[in-house]
Amino acid sequence: MSGFKDKVVLVTGGSRGIGRACAVAFAKAGASTVVISYAGNEAAAQETVALLQAEGAKAEAIRFDVSDSAACASAVDGIVKGHGRLDVLVNNAGVAVDGLVMRVKDEDWDKQLDTNLKGAFSLIRAVSRPMMKQKGGAIINITSVVGEMGNGGQAAYSASKAGLIGLTKSVARELSSRNIRVNAVSPGFIGTDMTHQINDEMRQKMLEGIPLGRLGNPEEVAGAVLFLAGDAASYITGEVLKVNGGMYM
Ligand code: NAP
Repeated sequence: MSGFKDKVVLVTGGSRGIGRACAVAFAKAGASTVVISYAGNEAAAQETVALLQAEGAKAEAIRFDVSDSAACASAVDGIVKGHGRLDVLVNNAGVAVDGLVMRVKDEDWDKQLDTNLKGAFSLIRAVSRPMMKQKGGAIINITSVVGEMGNGGQAAYSASKAGLIGLTKSVARELSSRNIRVNAVSPGFIGTDMTHQINDEMRQKMLEGIPLGRLGNPEEVAGAVLFLAGDAASYITGEVLKVNGGMYM
């Protein structure tokens, strides 16, 4: 596919899991430059960089905390200065700290809202000006099935992901006249480090609620992200695309 030729893509949280699969999918689709961000896992980030280079893309890994809005602004500035443009932003970096609502600590609430929601907002704010100047761009926010349906033990995480849906739709309305499309992908239960910690009993219970009867894999989420970022989705904005095996319809 030539749709991403000469495009510069930023995938946050690209060191592992869904973010890595998205970054590799863009490289395979011909993106000239794929920048990934990560929080601290340097070894995993460098593994992703090697995978991207093997696909022929220029690749770079930058470490910053997405909950730090000044760091987000400076990262975007560096990409635009270094690579000349920024065409696609995938807000994928995220954390989950599970716990029943009566036991959720302020710091756990803040960590999830600041990473999952404020992080996406800060990066959208930072990319909006360069994308407006370029007269185009695509932003994809990775929300979650639990942002749509709720989940006991995940009040803060669900709130952050539901907030991302509101953010997606508002910014889609705001930036549409500048040819910037903003969409969300809402994964269900995907096999990554984030879900490996779930115990067998809980895993079995979740599988029973998935009509396709299995976990999704990161590449299946990446396929939806690539679609929304590309020309095939040129008339789609403000959409929330479910990739959940039918878990929530
Ligand atoms: P993961 O394997 O745990 O990877 C998380 C990624 O986010 C890593 O690259 C991590 O960097 C980065 N990250 C975490 N906190 C960060 C911060 N404060 N600043 C910058 N980067 C940070 O997660 P995943 O399962 O691939 O999930 C990716 C996204 O999909 C998340 O937004 C998650 O909420 C969402 N999602 C996942 C599932 C699922 O079933 N897995 C379902 C629905 C939605 P380091 O490697 O440096 O730690």
